[in-house]
Amino acid sequence: MQALEQKILTEGIVLSDNVLKVDAFLNHQIDPVLMQQIGKEFAARFKDQGITKIITIEASGIAPAVMAGLELGVPVIFARKYQSLTLKDDLYRSKVYSFTKQTESTIAISNKHIHSSDHVLIIDDFLANGQAALGLADLIHQANANIVGIGIVIEKSFQTGRDLLIEKGYRVESLARIQSLNDGKVTFIQA
Ligand code: 5GP
Repeated sequence: MQALEQKILTEGIVLSDNVLKVDAFLNHQIDPVLMQQIGKEFAARFKDQGITKIITIEASGIAPAVMAGLELGVPVIFARKYQSLTLKDDLYRSKVYSFTKQTESTIAISNKHIHSSDHVLIIDDFLANGQAALGLADLIHQANANIVGIGIVIEKSFQTGRDLLIEKGYRVESLARIQSLNDGKVTFIQA
């Protein structure tokens, strides 16, 4: 997706050979126009798949997921990373190792919002080693719902996540695919 790649090139900051900071438009400040385009692109790629729900993870997956939900006309659930006071019982839970925080945390969704009849699209901001996506997939499996695919805003293709998810049989659609962050420079895999 060209507008996204352009934004990454102009406003992304390469923190190291494997971490990209996009606080200017996705992870802290949010660019609503770009998010709308991202939502349309996910919707175009997954239309006609009978999607009934989108699942993402707080916080940075929420903006692109909501925009995709708006386009597809389906509700969006975000997995919580901690057990809040209002979210106590009847939870599906999974453990996820965080690439950026380098700690394991529990993610959870209420079983009230997902059912075995659901066809679910997973959306997240980044794909690195695939642990967040696998954790979300685990929650969906616990509900015996169907996973239609995984939509990623920024995939770092030099890390293991994509291969792992494809190996498990998931369809992965990434809007920007980064080949390398070496030498402080972003290079993309051309579609
Ligand atoms: P994974 O679970 O695929 O290893 O990592 C994906 C998760 O880690 C995403 O939900 C995202 O929050 C975070 N993440 C991974 N790599 C990056 C990165 O280069 N930059 C930022 N901002 N977040 C990342």
